[in-house]
Order: sequence, then structure tokens, then C-alpha cells
Amino acid sequence: MTLALAIHGGCGTLPKSEMTPAEWAAARADLAASLRAGWAVLSKGGPAVDAVEASVRVMENSHHFNAGHGAAFNTDGEHELDASIMDGATLAAGAICAARRIKNPVTAAKALMQRGDPLLLAGPAADAFADHEGIDTVPNAYFSTERRRNNLASMKIREIVGTAAEAGEAEKHGTVGAVACDVHGHLAAATSTGGYTNKPVGRVGDSPIIGAGTYARDGRCAVSGTGKGEYFIRYCVGHEIASLIAYKGLSLEAATQAVLDELSAHRIGAGLVAVGADGSIVAPYNTQGMYRGWVTPDGLIHVATHGDVEMAGQAA
Ligand code: ASP
Repeated sequence: MTLALAIHGGCGTLPKSEMTPAEWAAARADLAASLRAGWAVLSKGGPAVDAVEASVRVMENSHHFNAGHGAAFNTDGEHELDASIMDGATLAAGAICAARRIKNPVTAAKALMQRGDPLLLAGPAADAFADHEGIDTVPNAYFSTERRRNNLASMKIREIVGTAAEAGEAEKHGTVGAVACDVHGHLAAATSTGGYTNKPVGRVGDSPIIGAGTYARDGRCAVSGTGKGEYFIRYCVGHEIASLIAYKGLSLEAATQAVLDELSAHRIGAGLVAVGADGSIVAPYNTQGMYRGWVTPDGLIHVATHGDVEMAGQAA
């Protein structure tokens, strides 16, 4: 079976001129580290679901991406985190939303998946579940960074002067996600996010919604999305792509492009990574850039933020 791993760090990528070359290089290095973590699992014959968790954890720990440390602020200047994971072999899934203290939300989502029932826990219940399972928790301020604080300040000003709709993608949002195919041909997907800057308290996006921002089903595909979550939920993006493949016989590329075209018609930023049943990978987006990366079957790491793709050495 062809091993496959692809990740995204969100379609809320800054214009190239707004970060120094060193900062871009640091972001790409964290993407490469995320791919190495996931590939280490896959190349040892480990399950796809463990690989996507490992990859997402690295991006949650990086301040470059809007998930875990570096998450967006809500209207109250706090962080509420959403994450989910799905095992395409069994359709088992776990998700948490509006969590405030879980250091790595994807790990809590996976622990919930392993418990089996319930599938989704919200707010204080999610945090309490992490406490109960011995999963690392942190004060809410752990997630804060200066860049996101500046994003919040500028969104508050935009709100007052009525220009919120004109905010750049990077000012607003971001997400991280991973999809994988393991040695047994099993697929998995995971997604984790801080949502969007200045989101209302209690707002939950698509990332923890199975079938919307995250979906995996063996024989069809695994998908992790980024972009305006309200639309990913309306179109059930992950499930829609899987259905276009299963019922209409579309290729992974055609199915993902068809759904992205529908999202684009609403003039929203959107992107995704997906892996097909045969281990093929796509990473389409409609924004200026999307943090993304993948490993080719020969183990070579590819990372990108905008149009140009960089090779970043062997994964293992
Ligand atoms: N999809 C995320 C959400 O709506 C945000 C993003 O990916 O930019 O919460």
C-alpha cells in the first residue's frame, strides 16, 4: 500500500511581504517537523489515526498556526479551541469544542474517540474530560501570542469603523489539519483550530464537526478543511467530497475542486488537504496561500506557504 501524509496549517496565510524570510523559514520548518512526526508513525507500520494526531500536535505546539499555542482570540480576548479526529477504517471519531484549557486538543479528541461514546464534548465538559484522562492542561493564557493579540485589536477597530469584511484572511483565521493513509490502506483525518479572530464566545466552527471540517472513510478519502467554517458545515464538505467519489465516481481531484468551487462562489477563503483510497494527495485552496505540506512515497518532504513548493529533505 502507498503510504501518504498531507498537512495544512490553514489558508489564512499572510502576504509574503508581511513576514521576514527568517519567519517564513521558521514556519516551513515547523511544517516539516509536523510531517516528520506523522511519517515516523506511518513508516514504522503505525496506524493513520496515530500519524494524523502526531502531525497535528506539532502544529498545535507551534506559534505559527491558529491552533493550540498561537490560537485566535474570541471577542472576550480568550481562546476557545475546537478539534476532531476520525479513523476511516472504523468510522470511529472524537471531537471537542470550545475547550479552554487543553494543551493539545487533538489528543483529547483522540482519547474521546477511543472511549467510543460520546463523540463530541463541549466547553467545560471537554476540559474536565482532559483532566480525567490525565491529558495536559494549561492556563488559557498559554495559547496567547502577540501576533494574535494584534489581530484582535485590528479586528475590533475594523468592527467599529465597519471594515471587518475587508480583513485579510490571515487577520481572521487559520486552522491545522492532517490526512494520512497507512500501510494497511486505512485512512484518517484530524483538524484543530482556534476558530477566527473576534469570534463570538461559544461559537463553534467546522473543525470539530465530523463530515464538515474533518472526514475519513476507507475506500473513499480523508479530508481536513480550513476556511470560513460556517460554509464548510452547510456544505458538509468532507462528507460531500467522499460522496462525490462514491456515488458519482469522481476522482479525488475533481471531487475536491467541485466542492471548493461551490465554496468559492460565496467569496470565502477556503482550502483543504485530502488523501484518496489509493494514497493520492491534493491540497487545493482559493486564497493567496495556504500553509501545507506532504510526503511523497519516496519519503521526500514538500512544504509550501504560497505558490512555490520547497523540498525539505527526507522524512525518515
Ligand atoms: N475553519 C475554521 C473555523 O471556521 C477557521 C479556519 O480554518 O480558518 O473555525
